[in-house]
Amino acid sequence: MAELSSARPGPRPGDSRPGPAAANGGDDEASRHAAILVVEDQPELIRALRINLQARQYEVRSARTGREALTVAASQPPDAIILDLGLPDIDGIEVIVALREWCRAPIIVLSGRTSPGDKIGALDVGADDYVTKPFAMAELLARLRAALRRDEANQGQPRQVLIGRWLIDLTAHRVVLNDADESERVTLRLTPTEWRILEILLQRPGQLVGSAQILSGVWGPDFLQRTNYLRFHMARLRRKLEDDPARPRHLLTEAGMGYRYQP
Ligand code: CA
Repeated sequence: MAELSSARPGPRPGDSRPGPAAANGGDDEASRHAAILVVEDQPELIRALRINLQARQYEVRSARTGREALTVAASQPPDAIILDLGLPDIDGIEVIVALREWCRAPIIVLSGRTSPGDKIGALDVGADDYVTKPFAMAELLARLRAALRRDEANQGQPRQVLIGRWLIDLTAHRVVLNDADESERVTLRLTPTEWRILEILLQRPGQLVGSAQILSGVWGPDFLQRTNYLRFHMARLRRKLEDDPARPRHLLTEAGMGYRYQP
């Protein structure tokens, strides 16, 4: 059953998931600070990065393991990620692969690995930049600013998708009934998990997306066999979004393979 509530435009009280700046309609854009996720297992380095980033008005979150990084990024999507490759659990390269299933935020690798092969490997799987340790804080901060600027320029294109009667705004993280009356728009609530699944699918219109790819993007690399999770949440998404959930037209199952968003 759809969870309906009439809501005025703007951020919802109690919504713990901050959307990108555009979520606030523009007015608050200047006052919102970019959130940076620092993934690093050395506490002293986390501390130094936190002090320097906070001094420049960034909001800082940190994770000491790859798994923690995936969890933190999923629960509070960051605007950019500074990522060490040598982590105690999963390798940073795998973290990039898992993040890139759904997360478009710039990733700057900060690593002691200096070989061209390491750099190419990280960039090939989706990192945006690579800074080697030991590093100059000023250079890292300059690269971060550049990455955020590029990302902002790329976000110019509208990220709105229509599924049945629902208009899905991926930037503002809102789903509203696509009717004419802007002032009394009916909002549909999606859970963070439903959002992450939708983002992965909607970014690849018309493409088959493998179950493992979605599972790894949403729950992490340990959950590749949990196709039952995916079936459950896809069924919920269809009940919420499809006009006829029993005969979905947009959120399609490709039996034994995965799912497809059909525009
Ligand atoms: Ca390390």
